[in-house]
Amino acid sequence: MALSVDVLIVGAGPTGLFGAYYAGFRGLSTAVVDSLPEAGGQVTAMYPEKLIYDVGGFPAVRGRDLVKGLVEQAAPWNPAYLLGRKAEELRRGDDGLDVVLDGGEVVHARAVLITAGIGEFTPRPLPAGDGWLGRGMVHFVPSLDAHAGQDVVVVGGGDSAFDWVLALHPLASSVALVHRRARFRAAESIVTQARELGVRIITDAEVTALREGPDGALAEVEVQVKGEEPVVLPAHAVVAALGFTADLGPIENWGLDIHQRAIRVDSTMATGVERVFAAGDVAAYPGKVKLIATGFGEAATAINNIAVTLDPEAHLFPGHSSNL
Ligand SMILES: Cc1cc2nc3c(=O)[nH]c(=O)nc-3n(C[C@H](O)[C@H](O)[C@H](O)COP(=O)(O)OP(=O)(O)OC[C@H]3O[C@@H](n4cnc5c(N)ncnc54)[C@H](O)[C@@H]3O)c2cc1C
Repeated sequence: MALSVDVLIVGAGPTGLFGAYYAGFRGLSTAVVDSLPEAGGQVTAMYPEKLIYDVGGFPAVRGRDLVKGLVEQAAPWNPAYLLGRKAEELRRGDDGLDVVLDGGEVVHARAVLITAGIGEFTPRPLPAGDGWLGRGMVHFVPSLDAHAGQDVVVVGGGDSAFDWVLALHPLASSVALVHRRARFRAAESIVTQARELGVRIITDAEVTALREGPDGALAEVEVQVKGEEPVVLPAHAVVAALGFTADLGPIENWGLDIHQRAIRVDSTMATGVERVFAAGDVAAYPGKVKLIATGFGEAATAINNIAVTLDPEAHLFPGHSSNL
């Protein structure tokens, strides 16, 4: 039997997770679908170990801890998590909407809240790493501890590449950075920090091969520096931080008003398609600022307006959580 909920939240980033809490607080049942295998959106995928300084109430909070707190906050309301599943199609159903997931499963929802952020993000591939993903090569570092005592080669020249270098340096046995240009896209301050730590930085260079050791695990990479003989670096792990492409994908076909990969909403976070609301990075209106803090506020606005849409007798203002 198809899963049936009051609100289907598309995207388990910070906005969707806070939306799941808020929907529960308003007495609405929810399911949260995300194409990534873990909750947390951009935070989990791209910067789980970074400190975030602009979330109200936390002078500094590690990305991973913020996501853990959001999941805990929603947990008492038992949202159904459909992780590793993509929302493909939106259809109008009886008393609401049917969202078809990849694989054909249908979720029936009385309303849909789209919190799809920048959409599905796909890391840019490292050509020499073909076949090594999950066998020593990663695009994001889910756990720094997994690299303690390892030789790590980071590939890329942007902020993320240098962030991983700086985060891994204290615990890895060695960290080297390989970049195919002489100049970096990363902020000068973090490049300087890496240089001052003595990180081996190889520019004008490309990783041309990943090779296994006798045990079959990744052991070294070959690096071709322009005009020079190839060098071999020890590598238990390669972090291919070459950026990513983002795409709203199937949501673009849901009949929404989409401009520059964002969905136009009004001040209630309604999209113009009946019973479909949007919040967080994916929602656009004049003066929009894309921040985690903004997403939290928009999620609360969207859910309170959904509550009234689903039950015209309900109050828009929910009362204060501290009074419950
Ligand atoms: C390196 C970096 C550092 C940052 N630092 C800060 C900071 O310090 N402070 C701050 O406020 N913000 C920061 N941001 C921005 C912040 O991460 C975003 O504003 C925030 O993640 C937006 O949350 P969201 O839930 O709206 O979207 P996202 O976090 O993008 O989550 C959207 C989710 O929707 C899923 N999804 C999309 N389409 C589908 C679909 N069709 N089916 C299923 N799932 C789907 C995606 O897989 C994703 O998990 C940073 C961003 C980056 C990249």
